[in-house]
Amino acid sequence: MHLPGGAHHIAGAFGDDDGPEQEVLDPSTGQVLWTYRADTPATVERAIDAAEAALPGWAGSTPVQRSTVLHALARELSAAAEELAQAETAQVGKPIRLSREFDVPGSVDNVVFFAGAARRLDGMAAAEWSGTHTSTIRREPVGVVGSIAPWNYPLQMAVWKVLPAIAAGNTIVLKPAENTPLTTLMLADAAARAGVPAGVLNVVNGPGPLTGESLVRSPRIAMTSFTGSTAVGRHIAALAAANGTRLHLELGGKAPFVVFADADLDAAVRGAVAGSLINSGQDCTAATRAYVHRSLFDEFVAGVAELMAAVRLGPTRDEDTDQGPLASFRQRDKVAAMVTRAVADGATVVTGGRAPGGELAGGAYFEPTLLVGADQRSEIVQSEVFGPVLVALPFDDDDEALALANDVPFGLAASAWTRDVFRAQRVGRELAAGTVWINDHIPIVSEMPHGGTKGSGYGKDMSVYSFDEYTQVKHVMSDITGTARKEWQDTVFRPR
Ligand code: NDP
Repeated sequence: MHLPGGAHHIAGAFGDDDGPEQEVLDPSTGQVLWTYRADTPATVERAIDAAEAALPGWAGSTPVQRSTVLHALARELSAAAEELAQAETAQVGKPIRLSREFDVPGSVDNVVFFAGAARRLDGMAAAEWSGTHTSTIRREPVGVVGSIAPWNYPLQMAVWKVLPAIAAGNTIVLKPAENTPLTTLMLADAAARAGVPAGVLNVVNGPGPLTGESLVRSPRIAMTSFTGSTAVGRHIAALAAANGTRLHLELGGKAPFVVFADADLDAAVRGAVAGSLINSGQDCTAATRAYVHRSLFDEFVAGVAELMAAVRLGPTRDEDTDQGPLASFRQRDKVAAMVTRAVADGATVVTGGRAPGGELAGGAYFEPTLLVGADQRSEIVQSEVFGPVLVALPFDDDDEALALANDVPFGLAASAWTRDVFRAQRVGRELAAGTVWINDHIPIVSEMPHGGTKGSGYGKDMSVYSFDEYTQVKHVMSDITGTARKEWQDTVFRPR
């Protein structure tokens, strides 16, 4: 497997610091893949120096110049697709099929999208709203961006953070999660090979409280963008507030999956299994709470349980494996503990609910799990599990379904399953989420925004909407009369 040439990538080159030693494990076996020394605050400062030094040249480059190197980056990533897929699979424990067919091509597509979008940073048309001035809108980069990314989709999350930022003319320092740095370092290396100028994209590595926090605390960072847990997101928001730093927060979700009485049951069953198990459920938009009309409830539960039981857990490099381990033993233990507490609170396990033994016992595996009988107020229904766990609950009418679906602190994604066009329109309006799918759950496209509401944070990744986060709008108002005396000045002083 390809290993990076150093723990950080600053000003176009790999390097190493001497912070605490970190291990990158393969969670499917527990074997150590790579060790590195964490970056200390001094290295983070050096990365910010590099990003600051690169900013004037990059922000001043033409859109076509930025677009050209970003297209070259997409080609570099495409050429390295298999190496990236292998590294992603090894460090996260993803089945190789998912890395090859979703993570890597999705990341390349996002780079291609922003390479094009770099040339379409549109603003309002210029006009003479006052009658005596021409007003123009400029969309300018915010400056040096500091980003912190999670471990569930390391390459995609890095791309989602980096591409809109640099396409818009910012420079960036990015810290991936300490246990999944490999593909982010490969991205930085690919960017250097593609001709992205040194200092535009810098990657530092190490634990959040050490390396991440020194990035967030720096007054030289113009904007912090973060994807991760709600607790850490709020901590970061407090740190950023001390400097008045602009923020973009993507804080996870607890997506409802609402199956109405008129739904195509087969489609809903398949959708629930794929939507809850993708990436071992470590997906902030994953289906986590299935609210099913009472008339379909038993059949839905039986269908999901049967399909879940047939899902193949196995070695991550095996093309036939459907589900790998969780991304870490810590995450597996967290998921197992939440399921144990759910049962103690009155829920019943229909299928799964435990770590498998046998050949998989050495990895961080957890069986696809379906629970029923949980209380709406219980932890398993209200809190993010981030594992292959779906809870099914019945409802009796549409108002109740919508109330239950919206009754959690999160609002990232939701889906509704119905063949009634009016019902579909209503739930599209009333489900409190940044994305609502109708008769599907999970698909994303680079052209459309991703981001939440309520406890899921604010701001958008992907699409041109992300430029609203990574640019600032400037109004330039130019007098077109050429006269010394302006009429409006009479309100302040009258000419004598
Ligand atoms: P975290 O929120 O701790 O990790 C996300 C990122 O934040 C990582 O890069 C982490 O670094 C960094 N970080 C952690 N603490 C700090 C800090 N004080 N200052 C700056 N950066 C920091 O998530 P966990 O790994 O603890 O996962 C816990 C739960 O969070 C999951 O079970 C899941 O519910 C949720 N989650 C949601 C994600 C999403 O996509 N919305 C993604 C990941 C987790 P490092 O890990 O190196 O310490």
